[in-house]
Amino acid sequence: MADPVRIAFLGGLGEIGRNCMVIEQEDRLLLIDCGLMFPDADMHGIDLVLPDFTWLRENARRVEACVATHGHEDHVGGLHFLLRELEFPIYGSAVTLGLARSRIEEAGLLGRTRLVTVKDGERLRIGPFDVEFIPVTHSVPHAMAVALHTPQGVILHSGDFKIDLTPVDGRRTDLARLGALASDGGVRLLLADSTNAEERGHSPTESSIGAVLRQLFADHAGRRIITASFASHIHRIQQIADAAVASGRKVATLGLSVKKNVRMARELGVFSIADSSLIDIEQIDDHPPGEVCVISTGSQGEPMSALALLARGDNRWLKVGEHDTVILSSHAIPGNEMNVSRVIDGLLKAGAEVVHSGVADVHASGHAQADELKTYLSIVQPEWFVPIHGEFRHMVANAKLGQLMGVDRRKILLCEDGDVLELNDEGLTPTGRVPAGYLYVDGIVGDVGQGVLRDRRVLAEEGVVVVVVSVDVEAGKVLTGPEIITRGWVYAPEAEDLLDEACEAVSAAVEKALREGVRDPEGLERDVRRAAGKFVNERTKRRPMIVPVVMEA
Ligand SMILES: [Zn+2]
Ligand SMILES: [Zn+2]
Repeated sequence: MADPVRIAFLGGLGEIGRNCMVIEQEDRLLLIDCGLMFPDADMHGIDLVLPDFTWLRENARRVEACVATHGHEDHVGGLHFLLRELEFPIYGSAVTLGLARSRIEEAGLLGRTRLVTVKDGERLRIGPFDVEFIPVTHSVPHAMAVALHTPQGVILHSGDFKIDLTPVDGRRTDLARLGALASDGGVRLLLADSTNAEERGHSPTESSIGAVLRQLFADHAGRRIITASFASHIHRIQQIADAAVASGRKVATLGLSVKKNVRMARELGVFSIADSSLIDIEQIDDHPPGEVCVISTGSQGEPMSALALLARGDNRWLKVGEHDTVILSSHAIPGNEMNVSRVIDGLLKAGAEVVHSGVADVHASGHAQADELKTYLSIVQPEWFVPIHGEFRHMVANAKLGQLMGVDRRKILLCEDGDVLELNDEGLTPTGRVPAGYLYVDGIVGDVGQGVLRDRRVLAEEGVVVVVVSVDVEAGKVLTGPEIITRGWVYAPEAEDLLDEACEAVSAAVEKALREGVRDPEGLERDVRRAAGKFVNERTKRRPMIVPVVMEA
C-alpha cells in the first residue's frame, strides 16, 4: 500500500480570493499559494481578509515550503503575514517572486524566507515533494500549474489559467505536457480554477485587446490618454505602451505599483519599451496632450489609488479635463463595482471622456471559460476532480463540466474551506476539518475578530446609546442620572421627549433592582441594558448598541 497524501483547503473554495491549500506527505506540509481577499462592503473598516493560519501555526515545524503559482495578490498577498510567524522558502517563477518580494521586503521579512526561482517545465524535490512547474497563460506573466508526483499518483493544481493560443508573449498553457501526464500513468486528481466556469464559450485572446487599443488611440488623436489596468497585468500594460508609442506618444506611469512593476518587468525582460519613450509623470505638462499617454493604477476604483484621486481632482501630478480620454482597461472584481462607478462619475464630471469594458472590448479575462475548461478536462482526463477557486456556484458549474467530460460523478468532490481530503489506494475521501475562518486585517492589527466586526456592523447600521448612571451602593439609591448620550440612533434635539422617557424607564429599572438587593455593578449594568434596549426597541423598532455605564459612589 502506498503512503496516503492529504490535502487541506485553507481558502479560495467558496469565495474569490485568499487562495491557499496545503499538501501533506510523509508528515511534511507544502503550501500552494497564500493569498488575500478584498473585504465586502459590510466588513466595516477591514483592509483585507486572510486565510486562517491557526493550523499552520500549530504545525509550524512541519511546513516545508510554499509554492506560488503566480504573483496576483489573491495568491501571494498573504505571505508577508504568514512569514511573521513562520519561516519557509518560497518557490515560483521570476515574475511571481518579483511581485511577491516587494511586500515581504516592505514588511522587513526577507530574512525569514528564501526565494527560489523556478523555470518553465522544471521539476524538483522540495523535501519529500516531487514538484513540477508547468507554464500556463494568465493575466500576469509566467503563471504556473503545479503537478505533484506523489506516491498516490499525479495531483495537478491548475493554478489560474486560460487557454490563449495567441498570448502577448507567445507563452501558451502547456497542453502537450498536460497530455503527456495524462497518457503516462494518468492524473489521479485534478484541482482546477472555477472562476469563469459559468461563462459560456471561450475567453477572448489577450492580443485582441491590442487592436482595440490601437483603434482607440487613433480615434482619440490629439487628446491626452490616461489608461488604467491592473498594475501586475504586464501584458496589458505592454499593449497600451505599444499603442501609445505607435501613435507617437510618450509614456508616463502614475502610481507606485505600476512604476515598480514596470521596472521589475523590464529587468526580467518581460516588458519592453525604449528609454526614449518613457517620461516622468512630472514632465507630463512639457508635452502636448496628443503626445502623451499615462498608465495608471486604480482600475478597481480603490479609493486611495492614483485614478480615484484623479477623479476627485486630488492628484498631485495632473488634473483631468476636457482634453482627456480615460480608458479603463479592466473589469470590476465583484464588490468593487460601486467604487469603479464613482471613479467614472468623477472623471465624467471633470469633463473627460471615459471608455470602459461596458462600451468597448478593452478587457479580456485571464480565467478559462466553460469551453476552455472542457478542453482542459478532456486533455487531463483526471480520475478524481475537485473544483477550486471560486464561489460555490462557480465550483458547481465546474463540477458539471467535469461530468460532461467524462469524469465519474462519484469521483467529483465539492469541498469548502477547512475541508481535509485523503488520497489513498482506495480513492479520495474527506477525513476531517481544520480551522478556516476569515482572518480580518485592519491596519497593522493582525486579527480584529468576529466580535469587533459584529460591533462595527451594529454601530454602522443602528448607532449607539450610552446610558450613564451613578448609584450609592450602600444606601441603595440612584445619585445622578440616568443620562443618555446617543450617536446614530435618533437626532437628539428632535427627540428630547423620547430621551426623557428612556431615562425614566432606565431609572425605574435601576431602582427596582436596587430594591431587590442587586448591588454589583455588572448586575446593575445588565438591568440598565435590558431596560434601555426594551424601551428603544418598543418605541423606535431599532436595535442600536446599548452601552450601560454604572458608576459607584
Ligand atoms: Zn486567482
Ligand atoms: Zn490570478
